[in-house]
Amino acid sequence: MLDHNASVLLIYTGGTIGMFEDANGVLMPFDFNALKEYVPELQRFKFTIDTVQFEQPVDSSDMNPDKWQKLVWIIEANYSKYDGFVILHGTDTMAYSASALSFMLENIGKPVILTGSQLPIGKIRTDGKENLLTALEIAVDKDPEGNPFVTEVCIFFQNLLMRGNRTTKINAANFKAFNSFNFPLLAEAGTQIRYRHDLMHRPLRGSIPKFHYALDPKVAIVKIFPGMSAEVLKANSAIPHLRAIVLETYGAGNAPGEQWFLDIVDEWIKRGIIVLNVTQCASGSVDMERYQAGKSLHEIGVLSGYDITTEAAVAKLMFLFGLGLTRQDVKIALKMAIVGEITVAVN
Ligand code: ASP
Repeated sequence: MLDHNASVLLIYTGGTIGMFEDANGVLMPFDFNALKEYVPELQRFKFTIDTVQFEQPVDSSDMNPDKWQKLVWIIEANYSKYDGFVILHGTDTMAYSASALSFMLENIGKPVILTGSQLPIGKIRTDGKENLLTALEIAVDKDPEGNPFVTEVCIFFQNLLMRGNRTTKINAANFKAFNSFNFPLLAEAGTQIRYRHDLMHRPLRGSIPKFHYALDPKVAIVKIFPGMSAEVLKANSAIPHLRAIVLETYGAGNAPGEQWFLDIVDEWIKRGIIVLNVTQCASGSVDMERYQAGKSLHEIGVLSGYDITTEAAVAKLMFLFGLGLTRQDVKIALKMAIVGEITVAVN
């Protein structure tokens, strides 16, 4: 049910949705007011839409923890004033931002929807209009008692509402640019918007939202590949005070069984670096017990990332170390789903 008395804060960070082509055909960000001119439909909504934009709209390739903090700050400062928040964001790093925000906005009881587009909103065939208009509708959709349907950080793209920290960008050209391989859709927009209320992440009863700012970016991603040399592997960890490595492995969490490889990973762990095993596959989960190639990693102390995405793994590690947790507590938290980012087996 659309709440016509509701209000949404539309936050514009940049990205293709609000870009124009310069004389050389290069896409450049433009002012948010210009974007509004291209979407006159916005004026037909009865609910209030206020807008705020980054002083310098950015291509999302320039997203970083500082800008995530800025988003958290905007949401915290406006949390009580609005029923929901829609963030316009470039698609390239949207899954990273959605993952980070899902941890930084703890116990939110309101929708925070990220969306963007593959074609600038000024183009006739743009996907941006539908994405924007439906994201706004979702941000004010409520049950008859006035409770919001969505109470978590999501990405809405091409008719699909996905848990933010489960998403991955899958296509650089198609309008269906995101997928949530390891977790079902939270809603699908057709003639009606059909929600999976049973899957929605809910804030703890009686809890108040908590806004986290501290992130520790001393995290690296190491993607293994056949032919990777010891030099290349070592170079990835030659960073002082590195806290964690997201090790992107094959299949169910497998890596070369050669001694030099295991020795280097063992040395990382002895240096106090947390090594989190995440599969290179788009879907499925790490299971280091399945093959010897995974078992050896487990034996030296590599942790399972289960079915987490690389995007969410990076964000979760930055967040956990940002909280100032001990290495031991970070290890415990990596086994738990904090905001639905991994599927924890119930035995
Ligand atoms: N490079 C753009 C960005 O991520 C692509 C997009 O918006 O789709 O900001």
